[in-house]
Amino acid sequence: MREALIDLGAVSRNVETLRSSVGNMTSMVVVKANGYGHGAVHAARAALDGGADWLGVVDIDEALELRASGIEAPVLAWLHDPEQDFSAAVAARVDLGVSYLQQLDRVAAASGVALVHLKVDTGLGRNGAAPGEWEAFFAAAATHERAGRVSIRGLFSHLAGVDDALQVASFEVALAAAAAAGLRIQIAHIAASGAAIATPGSRFDMVRLGIAAYGLSPFSKHLPGAPTLTPAMQLSGAVVSVKRVTAGTGVSYGHEFVAAKDTTLALVPLGYGDGIPRHGSGTGPISINGQAYTVAGRVAMDQVVVDVGDDAVALGDRAIFFGDPATGVPSADDWAAASGTINYEIVTRIGARVVRRYLS
Ligand SMILES: *Cc1c(COP(=O)(O)O)cnc(C)c1O
Repeated sequence: MREALIDLGAVSRNVETLRSSVGNMTSMVVVKANGYGHGAVHAARAALDGGADWLGVVDIDEALELRASGIEAPVLAWLHDPEQDFSAAVAARVDLGVSYLQQLDRVAAASGVALVHLKVDTGLGRNGAAPGEWEAFFAAAATHERAGRVSIRGLFSHLAGVDDALQVASFEVALAAAAAAGLRIQIAHIAASGAAIATPGSRFDMVRLGIAAYGLSPFSKHLPGAPTLTPAMQLSGAVVSVKRVTAGTGVSYGHEFVAAKDTTLALVPLGYGDGIPRHGSGTGPISINGQAYTVAGRVAMDQVVVDVGDDAVALGDRAIFFGDPATGVPSADDWAAASGTINYEIVTRIGARVVRRYLS
């Protein structure tokens, strides 16, 4: 009834395309938040098929889900509970992003040799050691490494997308400070999809590809020369009720939509409980049988109504919210524009009630 059709071949091809656009350098594909809504394990396998070398997730539970499914590729997890016990992650060879001294000490205290990427804040203002902390942070990392408690494999940071050049320069200062502390950083990485595509000087030893791997653009405007990608998710619902109504009929809560003339209303069983933004009330695009419509009235928790006029729409016809615009349906970007958000949120928020069906 509610379906997110995920084209895993598209994910693999997107990763291949993106890798070749960065000279086939080492690439991480980020599969956090259930693979941006696409399914973490499926997306991870498709990314590896497309040539990804690393997988990225936010927390250790996400990393262990990949390991439990049999995925052995390197996985980096970078956001942890202050009380986190790192033993299971170390035992599962999950690389750990570490952002501050006490966290480094906790990681070092776990049994086994922890694989670590030190995280520095170069200007995003979120996670990572601030510049004033680098010297002590790197010195402690070198001490733990000499004692055989950790292996410092990487140094990384994340961009705010405002002034990449300033952050890249700050990252270079961090790399020099790490070297001065005696650390031999094998993998320096700072670029996510946007910088990987648009800022060659930010690529260092590895790029971290998230949204672009799923075929969506990290840019708010079209970037000439950007690689051509295929959106991997198509979200649709079956039309579950069709009825003729007379002019003046009000639709959905608050009657924000009133039929101007006699018309046909089609009911589609997806709502904000499935991740359809309520801000798309009266604006969100929907395609049925190749025709473009707009959500009539408010998006409810479980359903939306589409005014299809005098068109022949039958029970069971598929109402497509978004997919690959090359197939004539709205895009996740169209939904983002209609509801005041970004394509990232549109796909990632698709809820558990929506059945994922995979095309490989
Ligand atoms: C989510 C995330 C990425 C991927 O970002 P995209 O813009 O989706 O490519 C990369 N690095 C970090 C640290 C992230 O949190």
